[in-house]
Amino acid sequence: MKFYGFLLIALAGSATAAGAPAVSDHDRAEAREIFASAIAFETSIGNGQVPKLAESLAERFRKGGFPASDVTIVPYGETASLIVRYHGDGTGGRPIALLAHMDVVAAKRSDWKRDPFTLIEENGVFYGRGTIDIKSEVVLLTETFLRLKAQHFVPTRDLIIYFSGDEETAQKSSEDVLANHRTLVDAEFALNGDGGGGVLSEDTGKPLQFYVQGAEKSSATFSLTARNPGGHSSMPRADNAIYELATALTAVQHYQFPVMTNEWTLGDLRAAGALTPDPLGAAMRRFAADPTDAAAAAEISRNPAFVGKLRTTCVATMLAGGHADNALPQSAVGTVNCRIFPGVTPAAVQQQLQALAGPAIEITSNYEPLVSDASPLRQDVIAAVGKALAASNPGATIVPTMAAYATDGAVFRKHGIPTYGVSALFSKPSEEFAHGLNERIPVASFYNGLAYWDVLLHALAGRH
Ligand SMILES: [Zn+2]
Repeated sequence: MKFYGFLLIALAGSATAAGAPAVSDHDRAEAREIFASAIAFETSIGNGQVPKLAESLAERFRKGGFPASDVTIVPYGETASLIVRYHGDGTGGRPIALLAHMDVVAAKRSDWKRDPFTLIEENGVFYGRGTIDIKSEVVLLTETFLRLKAQHFVPTRDLIIYFSGDEETAQKSSEDVLANHRTLVDAEFALNGDGGGGVLSEDTGKPLQFYVQGAEKSSATFSLTARNPGGHSSMPRADNAIYELATALTAVQHYQFPVMTNEWTLGDLRAAGALTPDPLGAAMRRFAADPTDAAAAAEISRNPAFVGKLRTTCVATMLAGGHADNALPQSAVGTVNCRIFPGVTPAAVQQQLQALAGPAIEITSNYEPLVSDASPLRQDVIAAVGKALAASNPGATIVPTMAAYATDGAVFRKHGIPTYGVSALFSKPSEEFAHGLNERIPVASFYNGLAYWDVLLHALAGRH
């Protein structure tokens, strides 16, 4: 809650690509070749292809002049992480980690119009699984390291590429590296290619907003169980597992967790307020100016797209109960999924659910949620992103944001490394097909990413 007034949006430069670095045709061709190669590895869970992609990238780094001792593959089950250290001279401080993931969500060839594991370019668009989530960033970071190395660039601090191997599923490869191989990736902060990113205008295709993501909500799932001795349905009794569960779920339905803020959500709502028609837009602007404005919070909370930016939310998602149509139920189970605001513990949420449901309902959680605090907003990162956008996607306005889901950024934050989602990629909202069919990215957005990362890394780790 520190930066109320300030963040009205740093501007990403003028309409000229001032200070754009020289990215040559050769660099673009190399990036495209690495992209095609990376897409061809079917790195969804269970195929054992992530270590093969990691090895193929590792080979490129070694050939590009990175000592073998600075290129490390850390196996984890059927998957793996790849870590590449680009040594700096140390004058600029502690290292910066650069994150993306090599795995993708599964894609069934028969469901796709084009082969999901072949990079296909058509009418200014790259198609393929991983084009936007997030092999594009794996490739942009890889090509940028190779190019900077070939140019004999010496950063002022170590730059560390960290590509994880199961971000879309268990997120255990990053957890393993941070818990057991911390020195490989330890950094002052991390820039995450798998978070944030830009929005293009639906009409003109021009850059509009660029989201810098500094916080992620955690997801926790609870089972609410009512039990009962049951019996014959011809002899109903006052206590009944289904009715008791229904009462408990109704209490959850009518409860709202307290309103919370951080500098990411306030900045996001302030920016959205300027673009959203009233009354919602007015409520956003009022709330961003004064988060104690309960009427504004109530107005925003009525909108499903924004309620999660104000508070922890819990909602019923599944239901099971009873065993025969002529028997009293012996049990009834409701599933409740919660999206927990940074700073709140899952235990506190479970306690609140228990208080709502009453002591007769048993509440359990079947996995340990990935919980992380919001990262402090860093002016040096925002300023560097502004420069990078001016050189690559001029006209984009920087907007801070919190994600409603957790990436590997949450794993880094959980282990004390502040992390900023600053994906170089821009797309139209109508063309967002991450995790879906016919995933795609505009060709220009991909190539603009080369200039983006070049300027961003020079701004944070170059001589000035
Ligand atoms: Zn991703």
